[in-house]
Amino acid sequence: MRLLLVEDEVNLSETLIHLFKRNKYEADAAYDGKEGEQKAMTGVYDLIILDRMLPEQDGIDVLKKIRKNNLKTPVLFLTAKHTIADKIEGLDAGADDYLIKPFSNEELLARVRALARRNSEVVENEEIVIGRSKFLPRKGELKFGPGYGDSVNLTLKETGILEMLAKNNNLAVTKTDMLQKLWGPENDGDVNIVEVFVSYMRKKIKADLCGFSIVTQRSVGYKIKIL
Ligand code: CA
Repeated sequence: MRLLLVEDEVNLSETLIHLFKRNKYEADAAYDGKEGEQKAMTGVYDLIILDRMLPEQDGIDVLKKIRKNNLKTPVLFLTAKHTIADKIEGLDAGADDYLIKPFSNEELLARVRALARRNSEVVENEEIVIGRSKFLPRKGELKFGPGYGDSVNLTLKETGILEMLAKNNNLAVTKTDMLQKLWGPENDGDVNIVEVFVSYMRKKIKADLCGFSIVTQRSVGYKIKIL
């Protein structure tokens, strides 16, 4: 999962980016409406959190433009205003949900989970069963063994890789897609880094105990094989 936060208040932005990363979401920040629009249009994001009042370009205009350009990514609209007219304007412009400032971190995370769930084939929930293991993406944890008594902790990138694979069922995910989503639009284009991470993961995840392995699909990418 990769999130884009378009928010001009630097302190708030830093706090929220930190919050997202602690909850194992990859997250990028944009600080004005122009930058927000540009980053959003790369198409690598699963969810955009967009502030209403922004320099360069208003949040409503960003929203209208990305929808006009056919970007379907869900948008959570942040607004300090709370009149009914403002909410309607945001929803009419193409927002999927809105949140009124100030909000609690817990409420923000709940909205993020709800929007992600709506747009994901596998429940973007706390638990995904893979083979004989249980994957908890938001905790970066893979449980395995009798009664799931053992577990291994995954890093942010490893969690992202396993999440992409698990959500694609038995179909392969390309290295380029992984690079774009997990290293962001400013990646250097070298898929070698993805190969390095997958080889770490293969050592870390005991295939015989977890009941699955990450296999290479030649000239496509990687996929999960249930054992
Ligand atoms: Ca603002």
